[in-house]
Amino acid sequence: MDKQQTLKAACQSLGLIHTRNELETILHDAEENDSSYLDFLISVTDGEILYKQEKAKSKRIKEAGFPYPKYLKDFDLKFCKAISAKQFKQLSELTWIDGLYNLILSGPPGVGKTHLAIALGYQACEDGYKVSYTTMKSLIKVLRTEDIDRRSRAKVKRIYSSNLLIVDEVGYLPITAIEGNLFFQLVSDLQEKTSIILTTNKGFEEWTEFLGDAALATAILDRLSYRCDKIQIDGKSYRLENRKSFLDTEEKSNGKKKAV
Ligand code: ADP
Ligand code: MG
Repeated sequence: MDKQQTLKAACQSLGLIHTRNELETILHDAEENDSSYLDFLISVTDGEILYKQEKAKSKRIKEAGFPYPKYLKDFDLKFCKAISAKQFKQLSELTWIDGLYNLILSGPPGVGKTHLAIALGYQACEDGYKVSYTTMKSLIKVLRTEDIDRRSRAKVKRIYSSNLLIVDEVGYLPITAIEGNLFFQLVSDLQEKTSIILTTNKGFEEWTEFLGDAALATAILDRLSYRCDKIQIDGKSYRLENRKSFLDTEEKSNGKKKAV
């Protein structure tokens, strides 16, 4: 085995994966720049640290379970009148996660609730927080089956160890008393431990209806609202306002774009 192969094998067993993968480039750069021993070692260790941080970040994003990526930079504040630029900055800075605050985003379909929730979750993963995303429907399924299903148990465990839980689409489907109680138990357990972002198409006054129990609705809202900001996003659907089409109209084929 030549020296480079021996060194690569040593890097492998020491877990220095970046150095193993990039050995030729690292050596070439050091010779090119006439690096001192100290600078050379610093560049090796810096490279390893960066590589491990990037890997951990990708893992956090993958394991958060987002249905698709959404980014804060793509959120058009001009379209969303409910949030001021200052509030958006505060939301993006995520210190509210350290303060264990919750965030409730409510409003009709298409106003950007899911976009904002996922984008904040993405940013949180980037910044080192552990995040779990779920719709209310799959959360209920997971809570109902955790005693009999290993994967559900793993998801619940992950939720309990997350810094931020995103529950999307709360209130779209009515839930039974048993399911409502499971949700209440989760919200109670996470209080003072995990921040929750919840998106809903229901006003607080309608929670009794979809939970089917006034006392339970009050108890859940009481826990959620203690340290919480609620943003009511009203207005038109972004989807309808920015509808895209793929069929050619006459005007489109003449070079002018027009949605059909
Ligand atoms: P909701 O969850 O409120 O039903 P979504 O977040 O799914 O709505 O938004 C619907 C679509 O419109 C998505 O593709 C989303 O990216 C886009 N959208 C909504 N609001 C905005 C906004 N303010 N800026 C940019 N895109 C938006
Ligand atoms: Mg949505």
